[in-house]
Amino acid sequence: MAALEGGKHGLAFASGLAAEDTLLRTIASPGSHFVVPDDAYGGTYRLFVRVHKRWGVAADPAHLTNLDSVAAAIIPGETKAVWIETPTNPLLNIADIAAIVDMAHAADALVIVDNTFATPYLQQPLELGADVVVHSTTKYCGGHSDIIGGALVVNDDDLAEQLRFHQNAIGGVPSPFDCWLVLRGLRTLAVRMERHCDNAEQVAAFLDDHARIAAVYFPGLDAHPGHDLAKRQMRRYGGMVSFRVVGGEKAALRVCEGTSMITLGESLGGVESLIEHPHTMTHASVAGTQLEVPGDLIRLSVGIEDVEDLIVDLDKALA
Ligand SMILES: *Cc1c(COP(=O)(O)O)cnc(C)c1O
Repeated sequence: MAALEGGKHGLAFASGLAAEDTLLRTIASPGSHFVVPDDAYGGTYRLFVRVHKRWGVAADPAHLTNLDSVAAAIIPGETKAVWIETPTNPLLNIADIAAIVDMAHAADALVIVDNTFATPYLQQPLELGADVVVHSTTKYCGGHSDIIGGALVVNDDDLAEQLRFHQNAIGGVPSPFDCWLVLRGLRTLAVRMERHCDNAEQVAAFLDDHARIAAVYFPGLDAHPGHDLAKRQMRRYGGMVSFRVVGGEKAALRVCEGTSMITLGESLGGVESLIEHPHTMTHASVAGTQLEVPGDLIRLSVGIEDVEDLIVDLDKALA
């Protein structure tokens, strides 16, 4: 993982959240302040506000596509780190890693990038100045929906040593077999990602033209507000597509239950396509907070199947 990310040190964990928790326990102390994306992965937000908040760690959501909002959220001397996800989950917003690094470093804050969605094949945050890369290897790195794992990659020797101490002291480590499965997955990461990207581009174009679709969120579309930035920062646009259907939450639930080849499921990044309803599934834990997602939103992890089959399946579910 370190080699792929262009980093010096890599550490493996039992899950993405175990990696995140170990990172927070290593760098945070009572009074530490973090800036987090206002549409962060629900579990990351929950880890901050339901677990670490009790020990005096504060997290303020900021809209990372708006650099003024990031600048306003950073408290010099108190902000320990800015946590970036790009593209975000589930709205696929694109944040400018290099610009946020400049702001954060000027305030002596670290920059952590959750690179789960892009993978090191599409985006290398350390090269853009980030200090820590976080992965849920459960997703694209594993790639076959058969393991749960996480990783941290850093360049700083001292930080790596402190992380290693906490990794061992806390014990959220993976089994040798799970590590072997992630290594197996990484051997095909490049070819899988190319196919995920090809398929996602075609699925997004199909949805964008469909009368029953109210909005499509995919950074590869010209109309996406982060398109130009994604073009600069990423090799391609990834395999995740989110969209809103006409007819509200009920219609969205019907579509999620109406596909036959595309499975209804919470995870993402596997060879098989998965569809889900964030409001009641992956993002149920952020209902009622600033991070709540719309009820008519559907998230699609576009797999590596024949894209025509995927489009036929979606068309049928939308009929
Ligand atoms: C899944 C996911 C996580 C958490 O990873 P687990 O391996 O499920 O613990 C963190 N960040 C993102 C972006 C994810 O998609």
